[in-house]
Amino acid sequence: TRVVCLARRSEKEPALGDFVVEERPLPPLGAGQVLVRNLYMSVDPSMRGRLETTEKHYTHNFAPGSPLDGRALGVVEESRCPAVPPGAFVRHQLGWRERAVLDGADTDGADRIDPRLAPLPTWLGLLGQTGFTAYVGLTRIAALRPRDTVFVSAAAGAVGTAAGQFARMLGADRVIGTAGGPDKCALLVEEFGYDAAADYRAEPVRDALARLAPDGIDVYFDNVGGEQLSAALHALRTGGRVALCGMMSQFGDDRRTVDINHLIQAVLKRLTLCGFIVRDHDDLRPEFERRVAGWLAEGRITARETVVDGLENAAGALLSLLRGGNVGKMLVRLGES
Ligand code: NDP
Repeated sequence: TRVVCLARRSEKEPALGDFVVEERPLPPLGAGQVLVRNLYMSVDPSMRGRLETTEKHYTHNFAPGSPLDGRALGVVEESRCPAVPPGAFVRHQLGWRERAVLDGADTDGADRIDPRLAPLPTWLGLLGQTGFTAYVGLTRIAALRPRDTVFVSAAAGAVGTAAGQFARMLGADRVIGTAGGPDKCALLVEEFGYDAAADYRAEPVRDALARLAPDGIDVYFDNVGGEQLSAALHALRTGGRVALCGMMSQFGDDRRTVDINHLIQAVLKRLTLCGFIVRDHDDLRPEFERRVAGWLAEGRITARETVVDGLENAAGALLSLLRGGNVGKMLVRLGES
């Protein structure tokens, strides 16, 4: 099957030439296993960290010469697992390739989804890991309360478009977001339930927060770290809560260090800052799926994806995601069902 492999590790920023599409043999189909043809693959910022050697991440890093992997959704073509017959749709971890052999009924293998409940791409976006990240971050980590003022960074991305809409559904009083560029900021307000948005490239975020939330914020959902985190520390009210979800601003060449002493704000205002990894919170998944599928069915929230076609364009989709080339969930489409 065709697979995207890491050809070499870049010294600095990843480039297209670091990736190569190769033909690799598929293992034989064992008892209890299924052969899946991938239809959609998830493109995630965490891939960026996994391309490096030095830092420790919460899953294994990629090695030159080896295939990439990541979340994907496909259709079963052959099955030796009665619970998952041919034609079933499954989510799994062996993306970045056209076909994969998986364990059929295993928590690390195929997770069957119901395409009647929501379109296939939604199962990797709003109803998938990124939507779940937004839900866990808001409900459990930041303990969102009705009438809170909520600030979300990278608000036009996959987690951000989910977080803004969920915050609204969960009763937040005011939801503000930051994103790169005026077009994304307009979308935040027009499509994704934000009350106001600011372009973090055009204005210091500290100024934007003072303007858009003059009475302060209660919750910060942090997707980017750096300057935006320090701006939020200053804007938070006493007893405010921060869900530390990711650090997009710390990947690129233009990363800037921010004085750690801004954390004195956490002391003065008795703030709670809490990092989390979504997979530690699977106990919330049934509640999440039930509520979010309900909001979707009622037309109260919108699922948005940016779709790139073809395995040969998958590496380009990752590089584009890191530069903000997506609105909503970045996906690669390999085929139709
Ligand atoms: P997004 O769809 O949000 O894509 C990343 C976005 O980051 C880009 O669209 C870009 O938007 C923005 N960005 C890029 N560089 C910068 C920068 N220097 N400063 C500010 N924003 C920047 O990705 P996801 O929704 O998948 O992920 C969002 C965050 O959530 C990431 O930090 C990710 O690592 C984290 N995450 C954490 C999980 C957990 O378990 N803790 C699980 C899943 C995701 P723009 O045009 O606005 O710059």
